[in-house]
Amino acid sequence: MTAPNNFKAKIKRTITSVLPVAKNRTGHCSNCGQCCYLPKKCLFLKIKGAKNYCSIYKIRPLNCRKYPRTEAECLTPNTCSFHFKKE
Ligand code: SF4
Repeated sequence: MTAPNNFKAKIKRTITSVLPVAKNRTGHCSNCGQCCYLPKKCLFLKIKGAKNYCSIYKIRPLNCRKYPRTEAECLTPNTCSFHFKKE
């Protein structure tokens, strides 16, 4: 079951971000920026034309670095270029 898109889920992702990324995750980030809207637009998200970028990229928190850490935590399956192989 997918987590809801609210601040409670974000807090949970923040706490679980100390755990490893699921081994069945494949792909790479295509900078679509959709995870920067979970659950509201991040203050550090900057938009230049069609490009999204993080203004604190080098020091971004673990939950951003690891998103989507697991399939259950992935709230952007239609746009995210990470995928999870069926185990
Ligand atoms: S939703 Fe996925 S592809 Fe898009 S910015 Fe986040 S991690 Fe990258």
